[in-house]
Amino acid sequence: MRSPPDIATSSPFAPAFPASPGAATGTPEDRLARAWAALEAIPDPEIPVVSIRDLGILRDVRLGDDGLTVEAVITPTYSGCPAMSQIEEDVGRALDAAALAPWRVCTVLAPAWTTDWITEAGRASLRAYGIAPPGQCTADAPARHVKPLRFVPRMQPAAAVACPRCGSTHTQELSRFASTACKALYRCLDCREPFDYFKPY
Ligand SMILES: [Zn+2]
Repeated sequence: MRSPPDIATSSPFAPAFPASPGAATGTPEDRLARAWAALEAIPDPEIPVVSIRDLGILRDVRLGDDGLTVEAVITPTYSGCPAMSQIEEDVGRALDAAALAPWRVCTVLAPAWTTDWITEAGRASLRAYGIAPPGQCTADAPARHVKPLRFVPRMQPAAAVACPRCGSTHTQELSRFASTACKALYRCLDCREPFDYFKPY
């Protein structure tokens, strides 16, 4: 069953020509499999060691109502994220390279992305890259668009942040903002190394 369309914007990079049966190649199943293969490995522009699929930005790859048009469904990590137009371009380029026209990019805003959407593989890649992956954002996440209010001491993470290098939780926040707005700068008090922490959001 397909979820109802929640298309906020279409990519300006969508091909100008109308979808026509002659333009598409392969069976629907084949097109879908090739589209997943082309898109799931696209790296995040800001953190290239993690794919947009593992970050949860690439939410779905499906075929449109015509059964031909490849629809790549993406979600911004936070509103106004400057990387989103780059991601749209990368998606379009990958689909063109795989000869998968016609296609369109659908940007879906709800339910909103949270760092809970980052897969285990994505968290492992972040850690290997020297970025502490985000802690759990919502307690049990019964509905992902509901964010419970949590009362925690100001400027303190809900749980200790583990050093991605030595694993120590003996760490200290140096700055709420690091290389990008979505990360905080930490320092490990054991191995003395500074590192980025991907903030839960
Ligand atoms: Zn350390």
